[in-house]
Amino acid sequence: MSSSDDLENFGAATRGVLAGRREEWTGTPGHPGAIVNPAVWRASTHLYPDMAALRAHPANEDGRFYYGRRGAPTQWALAEALTQLEQGAAGTVLYPSGVSAIAGALLTVLRPGDVLLMTDNAYEPSRVMGRGLLKDFGIETRWFDPTDLAAFEAACCERTRCVLLESPGSLTMEVQDVAALAAAAKARGIVSVVDNTWASPLGFQALRHGVDIVVMSLTKHVSGHSDCMMGSASAGPDWYRKLRLRAQGLGNVVSPDDASLMLRGLRTMKHRLEAESASALAIAEWLEGRPEVARVLCPMLPGSPGHAVWARDFTGGCGLFSFVLEGGTSEARDALIDALSLFGIGYSWGGFESLATPVDPASIRTASAWPLDGMEPEDRFGVRLSIGLEDTADLIADLERGLAAWAAQGAAA
Ligand SMILES: *Cc1c(COP(=O)(O)O)cnc(C)c1O
Repeated sequence: MSSSDDLENFGAATRGVLAGRREEWTGTPGHPGAIVNPAVWRASTHLYPDMAALRAHPANEDGRFYYGRRGAPTQWALAEALTQLEQGAAGTVLYPSGVSAIAGALLTVLRPGDVLLMTDNAYEPSRVMGRGLLKDFGIETRWFDPTDLAAFEAACCERTRCVLLESPGSLTMEVQDVAALAAAAKARGIVSVVDNTWASPLGFQALRHGVDIVVMSLTKHVSGHSDCMMGSASAGPDWYRKLRLRAQGLGNVVSPDDASLMLRGLRTMKHRLEAESASALAIAEWLEGRPEVARVLCPMLPGSPGHAVWARDFTGGCGLFSFVLEGGTSEARDALIDALSLFGIGYSWGGFESLATPVDPASIRTASAWPLDGMEPEDRFGVRLSIGLEDTADLIADLERGLAAWAAQGAAA
């Protein structure tokens, strides 16, 4: 398998199995393609047989070994595999983390004096980037209501150069009308970037919905095993070339060992996401029926904010969602999380093990209302769950213990 065209007729699971496995990257001497997964090529120096070969080496091309910072076959195989999963992508740049991928994309597009519009439910480090890194480089960030197209259009000005979308958004999970936002941006000459970590290309084809650059934290679903960090940005030919040059300029490089772990995770991603989505939906439905729970924020759940757009635009989901408790205190919410034994307490998500973390959106948002319509002002304390691969019934039993601990704190009083 060598080009994305070869894979286009296959389903996503088959593509995940075949992607990135060029024969020259998986060969042993005399046996092209003999190894199933691309080997770990550790290399910084490329030796040339003679001066003529050194002088003849083409400048800065993909898939030509030159020096370690431009990668070697393991990294190229992962980048190509991700490109093959993203319809409309000409290439993928790898970064040492998801945050680094977001920074790499924004620093490719933005220049001093520009304005960045950022969705109000963005991942918090993205917000911090707007207030810190970008501000220091003379770029202004303004936030907009994630689900209000008119508010987005009203926020655009002559200096707006880029919009950062994230759908569903971190913590509160509203699904954005990415196609409408990307089209509105394009009409004004604004470049759209989306953080597609939640859905991955298996659940949402961002470039096909009109976005210019799609960014992902591979740390989550692609790794899937909570042992490795990386990020990616994929785009059509023009933005891919610019992303690649900017990443080279910033000295971004990922290790072949980590790229190999990511390739391993990628092979099973479709099936992990399906299992986690099914379990998450069952747990979301169970939570919705509980008196302790004011609102479940899970795009896959009918009636949840953003479900209609999710059902229209997405082909899959994942195990990450939040719920908000019916009133109560921060201490009671802590007691709930402490009472869980199968859910680890920790950041990140998308691993095979379930996690729970507290969610306090009211303290983060600046451009849109929280709590949502239909919730009481005291419904402020949320929990975010990342559902892993444990049995659903065991996770529900664990959550039942957690809700009992919450109630025992007099939370409902
Ligand atoms: C975790 C995360 C990131 C950042 O990824 P890292 O690999 O941890 O740097 C970016 N966006 C979203 C939505 C995330 O959840």
